[in-house]
Amino acid sequence: MREDNDYSAMATAAALAINYRAHIAVASRTPTADYATMIAALGGPTPEQGSDGHAIITDLVARAAPGIRASTAGRFFGWVIGQSHPTGVAADWLTAAWGQNAGNVVAAPAASAVEAVAAGWLLDLLGLPAQASVGFVTGATVANFVCLAAARNEVLRRTGWDVEADGLFGAPPVAVLIGADAHSTVYSALRYLGFGAKRVRTIATDAAGRMKASAFAEALSEQTGPTIAITQAGQINTGVSDPFAEIAPRARDHGTWLHVDGAFGLWARTCAEKAALLAGVEQADSWATDGHKWLQTPYDCGFAIVRNEAAHRRAMEIVASYLPGAGAGERDPSAYVPELSRRARGFATWAMIRQLGRSGIGDLVGRHCRIAAFMAAALSAEDGVTLVCPVELNQFMLCFGPEADIQSDDMTRAVIDQVQTDAIAFIGGASWRGMWVMRVSVTSAATDGAEAETTVAAVLDAFRRVRAR
Ligand SMILES: *Cc1c(COP(=O)(O)O)cnc(C)c1O
Repeated sequence: MREDNDYSAMATAAALAINYRAHIAVASRTPTADYATMIAALGGPTPEQGSDGHAIITDLVARAAPGIRASTAGRFFGWVIGQSHPTGVAADWLTAAWGQNAGNVVAAPAASAVEAVAAGWLLDLLGLPAQASVGFVTGATVANFVCLAAARNEVLRRTGWDVEADGLFGAPPVAVLIGADAHSTVYSALRYLGFGAKRVRTIATDAAGRMKASAFAEALSEQTGPTIAITQAGQINTGVSDPFAEIAPRARDHGTWLHVDGAFGLWARTCAEKAALLAGVEQADSWATDGHKWLQTPYDCGFAIVRNEAAHRRAMEIVASYLPGAGAGERDPSAYVPELSRRARGFATWAMIRQLGRSGIGDLVGRHCRIAAFMAAALSAEDGVTLVCPVELNQFMLCFGPEADIQSDDMTRAVIDQVQTDAIAFIGGASWRGMWVMRVSVTSAATDGAEAETTVAAVLDAFRRVRAR
């Protein structure tokens, strides 16, 4: 057999991957080796000679396995991380095996078409305007960047300035309004786009991080030039959303571009019990969201959604004589994203939407919100455990220590460390309003009520041991 016709590495990888997932799904503890251990395990001199694919894959699994964080298991609450659902993973394997360059319709007809179809499904599921365009990007970070690039293009174009041709030097200044508790990646996008992370007008938020509509109205009334307003659906620590129904009509009347960072929170639209929290969000001009969070696709998968398709395309389109442009009624995937060559993210998105269906996605969101509420209540029932904000969605924060002194950062840090060392569940920390908190995200399809109960018991046990020291 010719070496490049030896597919045994692929079969080996599939078998070992299935074995990993089956094991991790039922593991009672998931201790994970650290970075230094992994460097030692994976390191060595640069390979001089090639070797056998099957052996390489077997060896890779043996070396890497101890350092694979169990984020696909049911007791992972560390960050907003979906499960990498088996069906999404399977579609992703095919995506890699097919080796399609999802740049244009001729290079990849199926990959281009699957994006067009999945884009329509996404808009329908999220209740966004059917004519909006969707770029399939790596995640919400790049989705924020793409949406804000379209925003920058459009608000300047309306003043007669062509930012794509002439850049920002000499352009009319663009005002950027942003909530005080926006996600850090929105600031990254602002930096990439030449706006500067500090050159923004920060809008005051309430105790849970919601933008105050009155403060927004006041700031907006002071803007006379081109303006972009950045809001969010789903604050990273508290899960709350900005009051879109109050903000959006004001932005529209003012001619301001309204962007929504809805990395996970936008999916609350699919859940009958939670949809009202996002009322009015459909009136915005652009939305960034993720597939690899609540939709459970494998990494990397995000969506940049823009109401004004022409503005989206003007900001992203790549044209060259050797690249065949899409024909009438066709959609080139590269026209909506920063990359030319990339993987065909539409396949896993298409597969996961079919896997869960509209009702399954809504049920998953509802279940996660109920689990978050249950865990928050069960944990804060313990003396010395304080719930920082009421649970609105799937995210909540706790601090540990005497009730009188909720700023007991050391105790909270010690409990988080103990939980991570015990490795029954994984939960991390964050800084919120000047204090250190344990932050819990419930987003994985692998998480159910039983996993939540085991986790509550593990956290309380860790806390009691820390307190008794
Ligand atoms: C996760 C998240 C992001 C960043 O998304 P990535 O998928 O990690 O690029 C941005 N905003 C919010 C609110 C998020 O939760």
